[in-house]
Amino acid sequence: MAPELDPSTVVVHAGRPERVPNAPVSDSPVFSATYVAGGDRGYGRFGNDAWTAFEETLGALEGGRGLTFASGMAAVAAVCDLVPVGGRVVAPIHAYSGVLALLDQQAATGRVVVERVDIADTAAVAQAVAGANLLWVESPTNPAMEVADLPAIAAAGRAAGATVVVDNTFATPLLQQPLRMGADIVMHSATKFISGHSDVVLGAVLTADDELWSALELRRRSLGAIPGPMEAWLGLRGLRTLALRLERAQANAAFLAERLLAHPRVSRVRYPGLPDDPGHARAKAQMSGFGAILSFELGGDAEYAQRVCESTELWVHATSLGGVESLLERRRRWPIEVPTIPDDLIRLSVGIEHPVDLWADLEQALRTAV
Ligand SMILES: *Cc1c(COP(=O)(O)O)cnc(C)c1O
Repeated sequence: MAPELDPSTVVVHAGRPERVPNAPVSDSPVFSATYVAGGDRGYGRFGNDAWTAFEETLGALEGGRGLTFASGMAAVAAVCDLVPVGGRVVAPIHAYSGVLALLDQQAATGRVVVERVDIADTAAVAQAVAGANLLWVESPTNPAMEVADLPAIAAAGRAAGATVVVDNTFATPLLQQPLRMGADIVMHSATKFISGHSDVVLGAVLTADDELWSALELRRRSLGAIPGPMEAWLGLRGLRTLALRLERAQANAAFLAERLLAHPRVSRVRYPGLPDDPGHARAKAQMSGFGAILSFELGGDAEYAQRVCESTELWVHATSLGGVESLLERRRRWPIEVPTIPDDLIRLSVGIEHPVDLWADLEQALRTAV
C-alpha cells in the first residue's frame, strides 16, 4: 500500500483480498485444522489466511511484519522466551500487572534477572540497560499514565545491545508507532482497542527485523499459543473502525479529564492530554493523540473510590479497556497490582458514548458514593 496514505485510510484498506472479478471484499475465516499437501501452509498451528490479513494490516500501520497470538500475554511470553537463561531484563516499575507478574515468576525460578526502573526517567533507564538483554517499555503506562521518551530510550537500549520492546496497547498503532522511533519489537493486547468490542482475547507482535520475526514465529508454532481463525477475523473486523472509534473516545477522554480536574473530590487526574500532566510534552512529541485511558485519585480514600466504581449505572464496573463501552475500576482491587499504584486510583477506559451522558453518570457516582 502506498506509504503516503493516512493511517486512518490504511486501517480500512490494508489486508484485503486481491481485487479480481468475483473476489470477496472481505475474507471469511477458514476453519480447517489441516491443508492438502503440496503448498506452504501444512497445518493449522502454522498459519491461516485470517491471521495473515490481520497481521498485514497491523504491519502496514506499525511499519513491520506481524504475528498474532492467542492473547496479549501469549505474545509477551514469546518475547520473554527470546531472553537467554540467566539473561537480564529491564522493565518499568509501573506497567501492565500481568507482564510484571510474568517477569517476577521468571525471576523467582532463576530464568532471568529483572531490574525495574521508572520508565519516565530516561537517565535511569539508560543506566539500567547496560548489559541487559531485553528492555521492556510501556508508554503510556498502565494505570499510572507515565510517558517514556521513546526515541531516547530506544536509542539507549539499542546502544547497549538490548532488544527494545514497546507494549503499545494504550496508544494503538494509530497514535504511536514505536518501530519508527527505534524499537525492535512492538507488542499489542489486541483484546483492547484493536478489537474494540470486548468480545475477543487476542495478541500481536510486530517487528521490522526478519531474524526477530523468525525467532518469534518459531516460538508461536512450538509453544502453540495460537489464536483461532475466528478470533483473528474479529480482530481485523474491529480494527477497520479503530480510527473512528478512537477519535470519539479520545475526545470524550479529554472532556472528562477537564471535568474531573475541576471536581472538588478529585485530588489528581492523570491524562497526558492535560497541559499540566508530567507526560504532556513527550506525548505531544511522539503521539498523534493522547488516547482514551485516564486515571484519577480521590484524596487517598480507597473505600470511597471502590464505592464510586459500584455506583455507576452507565459505566460498567469491569476490568479491561479499549471497548466501545466505557469501563471503570479501582486497579488495586487486584492483588497483583503494583503497590505503588495509589489504592484510591480509578482507571477509566473511555468509550464512544455521548460525553454528556458519561459525565452525568460519573458525577452522579461521585456524589452518591460519598
Ligand atoms: C490487557 C493488557 C495486556 C495483556 O493482554 P491480554 O490480551 O489480556 O493477554 C498487556 N499489556 C497491556 C497494556 C494490557 O492492557
